[in-house]
Formats: sequence, structure tokens, C-alpha cells
Amino acid sequence: MKSINQLLLESRTRFKEAGISSYQEDARLLICHALAWTKEKVFAYPSHLVTEAEQEAFESYVMRRLAREPVSRIMGVREFWSLPFKISPHTLDPRPDSETLIDAVLSSVDKSAKSLSVLDLGTGSGCLLLALLSELPQAFGWGIDQSKEALTVAQENATALSLESRSTFLMGNWGAGLARTFDVIISNPPYIPQADESVLERDVVDYDPSSALFAGEDGLDAYRVLMPDVKNLLAPKGKFFLEIGEGQEDAVSEIITQCDLEFVSQKRDIQKTVRCIIGQHKKRLISTRDSG
Ligand code: GLN
Repeated sequence: MKSINQLLLESRTRFKEAGISSYQEDARLLICHALAWTKEKVFAYPSHLVTEAEQEAFESYVMRRLAREPVSRIMGVREFWSLPFKISPHTLDPRPDSETLIDAVLSSVDKSAKSLSVLDLGTGSGCLLLALLSELPQAFGWGIDQSKEALTVAQENATALSLESRSTFLMGNWGAGLARTFDVIISNPPYIPQADESVLERDVVDYDPSSALFAGEDGLDAYRVLMPDVKNLLAPKGKFFLEIGEGQEDAVSEIITQCDLEFVSQKRDIQKTVRCIIGQHKKRLISTRDSG
């Protein structure tokens, strides 16, 4: 029988030799998962001897990680905005970068408003929508996805976070067929150029659903399709928040303008990359005659 410490040391070395830079954290998370223990407990009992079954489970997780499966996928759960989200092969693995959108929405909405409607196009695990609902008690949210399986995961996450009474998940093609307007529209669409498939990390390309990653030759196809829907579905004083890929701000702003919408501002992620574009309806000048 081996101790926690022995298993941690051995797996760290194997991860390190395989070129996995997060070897410390990965080993610790996987041992927690194998034992169903918290990080604190693992830390407190390094010489605890694990059972054979636990060791086998741990070894199978280590093998999967060595095959470049992300730890979040092995565990089936990922933390986003400090909340636990179940994920599946049908949902994008939530990235810390996307928390930029949550920050952007929270610093832009009127928190004293009595009610707030939020639409999330391409909701996946529901992480963006549900993180916002957890912060905005007066908000109601609709999450749209083309994948039935993703919607099931999003619904489960809503229930687990006790947000099911304020969230509705619907199958759809971006905003097609929706017949109301929303105060806030958010989206983290696919934005990677198809040709980048060959250079992306295996952790990403082998495990995230391609439909959540790739969007045509220049990575902008999804914005071209969804922005006309945003134009139709945004309330007159509403704002929209789009996640974008590195260096896409000018091209996405151009699509926004072409859709007769207005760029308002952009927000950078912790790496200082512009990650979020904020926009609204074009301000129309109202002449005194019209307004009188
Ligand atoms: N942020 C993801 C990545 O860089 C891509 C997700 C997306 O295309 N929306 O791997």
C-alpha cells in the first residue's frame, strides 16, 4: 500500500516528464478525486495509506491526464466564478478568461433595477448565465444551445445551484425564433479559425466540442450569424457582451457596426488580452419635433 505522499510524488514526476506544466495542482486534484477528499484533508494526512481500489482509480486518472485529458474533464466538474459546474463532452470547459464577461456585465448593469432579463447564446454548461444569476437576484435568464446534451448539463447545473426557478434552457440556433427582447445578451461563441485546429493544444482540440471552438476560415462566422439576432433581441436600452479571441476586436467591432449596432467599450482579461466587447443599439438623435 502506498501513502498519499508517495502517490503525489510519483504522479508529479510522471506529469512533469510528460511536459504537463500544472503537474503539482493536477496531481493534487486527482488524488482528491480518487479519495473523494477535500484538498485540506489531503494536505493534512500525507502519510495516510490509500486502499487498492483508490490507488487503481488514481492510476486510471493519471493515465487519462498523461493522454492530455484536462483534469476538469476527468473530474467532470470545473470551477467558474467560484461555483462548481458539471461539464460533459458536449460542453466547452469553462475558462477563467470568460470571467471577464461576468465582471463586465456586473459593472455595467443597474443593480437597483427591479428586474433584469438575460439571454445567453450558446450557453454550453450554463456557466456564464448561472454565474450572473447567482450575483443578480432580480435577474431571470434564458440559455440557448443547439446541443440537447449540453442543455441537460446546463439544467442540472441550474438545479444544483438552486437557480432553476430563474433560468430557462431552450434548444435553438442562436436567437432564431425568440419572440421577446432582453436587457442583457451575452455570448461566448466559437471563435477559433478552422486552420488553427492543427496547432491547438491536444487538451483543447481532443476534448472540447469542435462546435464550441471553431468558426470558419477567420474564426468570425459565429459573430456574423448571431449579431443580426442580437440586434433584433436587444431591449432598447440593453447591452450585449461578447467574448472574443485574441486580436479579434477590430474585426468584431466591424461586424457590430455592419449590423447597425454600436460598440461601447472593451474589457481585458487577466493576461491583458482584450476578451470582451460591449455594445448597444445605435443612439439615434431625436429632433425636438419628433420628441414633442
Ligand atoms: N477560449 C477558448 C480557447 O481559447 C475558445 C473558446 C471559444 O472559441 N469560444 O481555447
